[in-house]
Amino acid sequence: MNNLLITPIEYLKGVGPKRAELLNKELKIFSFGDLVHYYPFRYIDRSHFHKVADLIELNGPAQLKGRIVGMMETGVGKSKRLTAQFQDDSGMINLIWFKGGKWIKNAIKVNEDIVIYGRPKQFGGKWQIPHPEMSKPSAIEKGFQPVYSSTEKLTANGLDTRGIEKLTAVLLSQISGQIEELLPVSVCKENRLISREDAIIEIHKPTNSQKAEQARIRLKFEELFFLQLELLVRKKITLQKSKGVKLELVGDAFNTFYKNHIPFELTGAQKRVLKEIRHDLNTGHHMNRLLQGDVGSGKTLVALLTMLLGIGNGFQAALMAPTEILAIQHFESISKLMEKLNVRVALLTGSTKKKDRVVLHEALQSGEIDILIGTHALLEDVVQFKNLGIVVIDEQHRFGVAQRARMWKKNELPPHVLIMTATPIPRTLAMTFYGDLDVSVIDELPPGRKPITTVHRYDAHRLRVFGFMKEEISKGRQVYIVYPLINESNALDFNNLMDGFEAIQRAFPMPEYNVSIVHGQMKPGDKEFEMNRFARGETQIMVATTVIEVGVNVPNASVMVIESAERFGLSQLHQLRGRVGRGAEQSYCILMTGDEISKDSIKRMKTMVRTNDGFEIAEVDLQLRGPGDLVGTQQSGILDLKIANLSKDGQLVQLAREVAKSILLKDPNIEAVEHKGIRSKLSDMLKSRPNWGRIA
Ligand code: ADP
Ligand code: MG
Repeated sequence: MNNLLITPIEYLKGVGPKRAELLNKELKIFSFGDLVHYYPFRYIDRSHFHKVADLIELNGPAQLKGRIVGMMETGVGKSKRLTAQFQDDSGMINLIWFKGGKWIKNAIKVNEDIVIYGRPKQFGGKWQIPHPEMSKPSAIEKGFQPVYSSTEKLTANGLDTRGIEKLTAVLLSQISGQIEELLPVSVCKENRLISREDAIIEIHKPTNSQKAEQARIRLKFEELFFLQLELLVRKKITLQKSKGVKLELVGDAFNTFYKNHIPFELTGAQKRVLKEIRHDLNTGHHMNRLLQGDVGSGKTLVALLTMLLGIGNGFQAALMAPTEILAIQHFESISKLMEKLNVRVALLTGSTKKKDRVVLHEALQSGEIDILIGTHALLEDVVQFKNLGIVVIDEQHRFGVAQRARMWKKNELPPHVLIMTATPIPRTLAMTFYGDLDVSVIDELPPGRKPITTVHRYDAHRLRVFGFMKEEISKGRQVYIVYPLINESNALDFNNLMDGFEAIQRAFPMPEYNVSIVHGQMKPGDKEFEMNRFARGETQIMVATTVIEVGVNVPNASVMVIESAERFGLSQLHQLRGRVGRGAEQSYCILMTGDEISKDSIKRMKTMVRTNDGFEIAEVDLQLRGPGDLVGTQQSGILDLKIANLSKDGQLVQLAREVAKSILLKDPNIEAVEHKGIRSKLSDMLKSRPNWGRIA
């Protein structure tokens, strides 16, 4: 059986070298097995015929039997179309082609019996069926007919959906009775999954719609199950290899801070996460933990406590932030918290002076510095520690894998790594893309936060928005206005920002108002100067680009106005909104958009207005953008799923993961007789992707 499935597709009856080459190139079908797993994306229900008179009420795709009684071509060039009148014993409807009319016109025989299949749509107020499928009545087989996606080149060589259907039928008849079950019987039974053989036959040629659905579920589950199993096994292998420093003590640094200096009681979620981290540090393996928590959930404090655990065990710690502004902020707040402790904190960024660096490098190597906070500058090879035990990476999405790996090399045994991200990732995605990381979630905000009020306003209402800003400023609050400069060097965007800045200065004139501006093309020193003015309350309005997206903390700023909000993605909008709502006052987020925006944009605005929950927003983002865009192409290999869909099959992902886990628990080396199928498939998978060890 296995041998048959690895047979090159060329040798299937009806293929041959030329079609084989096309199948290879166009659909990545190389073997019999690849064709077996090339599934139809929908079905045509051939089981019965509808009547023209019932079509509008039916409101869906339909199969009709009748005749074409007349044809007409209209328009020229691009607006050229072919219309044909189709009639059955109940009435008449137009068929319409916007493309390929010439070919169709020759193929159609007027007044001959014909079967058509299509979905009626209204064009210019009239119901018509665009681009119907047409067949001779004698060629119709009752039941469900699969529809496969094909390409222009394949179609030109007879491999349209019908052609692929025929090849698949030949293949299925050759292998029937030989399709092995891979899952243990008990798993199929417990989860009410049909057998693998049934599923493969039914997915290509279903007996009815219920069977088709069962087949899809079975095959999706199988695909997700093996993906999860592979991730879990790889994670286990990595873990076994990864020796790490063992941090057994809680230590003085942690204890003193926790008892005497911590500014507030930890939330339940912070405590839970800290417990998970403490456990990791003491296993003898190196920690690789992703800490997810919404903006403002208090990740920094967890990071600090983690670093103190390292210090209490005689190690150094490093905290890396994606921007200089953020690094400085961390440095200032952490230095302050450490004031009364014997913990030495230092800052290293791109603008640290050369002579200061020399001193710093030495102090790091002699162990005089306990916590080093900084930017990418930390990664440089000259930055060497005496004994680095903990690395915290803030706002992970700005750092790549390679950069993480450079931090691992800064100690003999790789330091423990805690990655913090405020861009929540839907659970099912996290499970898959960060399958090799452990994930902790802070799902609770510190007490006393007032939820931010979010509204969507069109450009036409700008004056009212300005009025509102003035009211808030008169109460002593401060305002951010963010412009979309997605690409900091985009001249058009830059002009918009500057125009906006000038307009704001006119609407909010000196000396009553002071307006700051910060953008990516400013010198770091100038940026910092303006940020500090705003932070000290010397300016009331901060006009900025997304450079302020990450982490910046000015509690007195209570209004966030986002210009051209339709140009931002959901997670970015959520990040920006997180810059307000940090103080005691009620905060507002105003999403300004053009007067006419797309459906997706409206959905994004509505989502933002409806909820403050980053995880819920991430779910919507996933639905709107799909998993590829969410996690970046670098990991898209995992997206080569044939049938399952990570954004739609969340529950199945979860189930698959649970089943995979329980199998590994019962049979860690997958050697039981009933796991023979799993074992052989898994070993094929591990062999075929040898370099897939670290995916995150
Ligand atoms: P983020 O998770 O976005 O990085 P921060 O760590 O910056 O959030 O914390 C947001 C704010 O909440 C900070 O001002 C911080 O001091 C405060 N904070 C953190 N933990 C608590 C807590 N347990 N109780 C009250 N306030 C807290
Ligand atoms: Mg933060």
